[in-house]
Order: sequence, then C-alpha cells, then structure tokens
Amino acid sequence: MVNPLDLKGSGMTSQRTRSRLVARLREQGITDERVLEAINSTPRHVFVDEALSHRAYEDTALPIGFNQTISQPYIVARMTESLLAGGPLKKVLEIGTGSGYQTAILAQVVDRVFTIERVQGLYERAKSILKLLKQKNIVYKYDDGNVGWQERGPFDGIIVTASPRLIPEGLAAQLAIGGRLVIPVGDETQQLKLITATAQGFDTETLETVRFVPLLSGKV
Ligand code: SAH
Repeated sequence: MVNPLDLKGSGMTSQRTRSRLVARLREQGITDERVLEAINSTPRHVFVDEALSHRAYEDTALPIGFNQTISQPYIVARMTESLLAGGPLKKVLEIGTGSGYQTAILAQVVDRVFTIERVQGLYERAKSILKLLKQKNIVYKYDDGNVGWQERGPFDGIIVTASPRLIPEGLAAQLAIGGRLVIPVGDETQQLKLITATAQGFDTETLETVRFVPLLSGKV
C-alpha cells in the first residue's frame, strides 16, 4: 500500500494539491492553525491504496478495505479542533485507528495518543505507516474500544471515529476534569457530540450532523 519513496508525492499527491485542501478547509470554517498545519504537512495519499491516491486530497471519505473508510479531512479537522479548543492536551484516546490518518494529525497537536482498532489488518497497516512517518508519541492497541482504555486513563481528550447508537457506558468516566469527548452518535442520522467533564458531571453539546461507519463490538 505505501511506497516509502512516495512520501513527498507528485502531481495529484503533491504539496501544492495538499495546500489547496487546506485552503478549502479554511473556507469551510476551520481556524485552528495547529490543525491546518498538521493537515498541510501530512501525506494523506500514503494512508490510502495507491489506486486511490490521486483522490487523497479531495475532501471526501475513501475506502480503506475491511468495509471501512478513511474519514473526510473536514471532519478530521473539525473533531481535532473541537478537542483542542479546551486548551493543550497531554493524553488523548482515539477509538478507531482505521487508516491511521486521524491518528497522525492528532499526534502532531497533542503530547501522546493512545489508539485502539478492532480490525487486525487495519491495526497492523496503520502502525507500519505511522512508523514510516516517524510518529513516536503513539501507543497502539488491537482491541474492542467500546470499553476505552481504563489503565491508561484519565484522558484530556477522547475521540471516537465510528458511530455507536448510544455513547458506550463508562467512556466519559475515563475523562479527566475539563477533558473532552468528541463522538458521533446514532444510526442512520448521526450527530457529532462534544461532551465535557466538569466537577459536577458532564456538559453535552451537539456540533453537527455527520456520517460515520458503525462502532462495532469484538475483534476481527
Ligand atoms: N479515523 C479513521 C477512521 C476509520 S473508520 C481514519 O481516518 O482512517 C472507523 C474505524 O473504527 C474502523 O477502522 C473500524 O474498524 C474501527 N472500529 C469500529 N468499531 C470499533 C471498536 N469497537 N473498537 C475499535 N475500533 C473500532
């Protein structure tokens, strides 16, 4: 899938094409410069199959095998920006590593990322691509992320990149006070929710309507 010689890209995978994507994200209202810079410097084309690499800088989700998709850049930016809006983040949990693209963006804007994936093939592939990109502040786990990662918590941020019908029980409890959980919720129609842990309990805000693959159970 990844040609290590092609990190730089050319033509439809060049830096210029990537910068155009960043300009489009700005037009759509993404303002966090750290997020825009991470997207500008991350070769999304190496996270998708070579046959699709010419479409890597379109603002769209693309198939990555195993019935899964790499998230749309706008959504990656929006979720990352929402997590960061509460202040600097030391530890972030990601549920649904998938291609590893969202993981790569996160790893550039927070201190450490803990990421969980339930599909072994995706877990292995994402790990090898992120190693190739020399991302060292990532801890990987092949598991069902429905229960979070208790031993590594509490987290300043939790991001879920697949949609449950209801927010998994106990997930928000792995947030530190002031920590933020960004998660799509729902079946057909999904809402992106931002949940903030306070000393009194949890505040919930709805960000926008989204479309994610379902959050499933067990490992495959
Ligand atoms: N952020 C990823 C999104 C991939 S799609 C990217 O941009 O590539 C969502 C991912 O969540 C899929 O890889 C899917 O296998 C994974 N997933 C679904 N349910 C899960 C669960 N219970 N635990 C961990 N990962 C899960």
